[in-house]
Amino acid sequence: MTTTLITGANKGLGFETARRLVAAGHTVYVGSRDPERGRRAAAELGARALVIDVTDDASVAAAAKTVEADGGLDVLINNAGVEGRGEGNSIVGAADTTADTLRELFETNVFGVVRVTHAFLPLLRRSAAPVVVNVSSGLASLTAMSDPDSPAHFYPGIAYPASKTTVNMITVQYAKAFPDIRINAVEPGFTATDLNGNTGVQTVEQGAEIIVRMARVGQDGPTGGYFAAEGPLPW
Ligand code: NAP
Repeated sequence: MTTTLITGANKGLGFETARRLVAAGHTVYVGSRDPERGRRAAAELGARALVIDVTDDASVAAAAKTVEADGGLDVLINNAGVEGRGEGNSIVGAADTTADTLRELFETNVFGVVRVTHAFLPLLRRSAAPVVVNVSSGLASLTAMSDPDSPAHFYPGIAYPASKTTVNMITVQYAKAFPDIRINAVEPGFTATDLNGNTGVQTVEQGAEIIVRMARVGQDGPTGGYFAAEGPLPW
């Protein structure tokens, strides 16, 4: 039996990933910072609700305690994330980006990933087949962002791509430190969710594909990589 925690699973890509992993036979914790939203999503999915705010040390520690008392964890999916759009769903451009813009976004997208991973590492290291999936973005790729022919190149914001590039580096370093854990970063693709005011061009079913695949990777599978549904991506 595989036990899986997905942060930010009360909606969007996390919710769809939870649906698919429940169908694949995983025992799934639907992580949600809001107890009521999490309870409702978990009930709909036939999963377990777990309150976890990735920006809050006490909340993450309490969540890890609960999961440990229940029997442990095999798969951690660091999915919770924010893009920090401005008024009218606009992307905050370079001229309007401040240190606070980055600080706020990094608190969830970067520090949240480390806070949660650090808290759940002791549980994962006790698993016979531990897996971590870090939900990154195509906008994390320095290669794509600096290539005028790449669709990602048009993206004007600084904070969100920088936060996801950092997630990629964190992934590489954790993967080297813990060779017994499969740890990969994934790019779901531009998907219609609340994150982007539902302007994405893919469905959540399409977007969740690579998250689900990497959550189910075997111990002979890749680690320290960066993948989209179509295959590996350039850093
Ligand atoms: P979404 O529908 O807005 O879902 C984001 C989830 O993260 C929500 O459940 C949200 O909870 C949760 N969350 C935000 N802050 C949190 C916190 N402090 N603690 C716990 N949970 C928190 O967006 P999504 O598109 O599914 O995003 C999921 C992941 O995919 C993110 O990491 C995002 O960067 C990444 N991604 C998305 C796209 C895309 O095109 N959609 C592309 C590439 C990567 P609330 O409901 O409480 O706000």
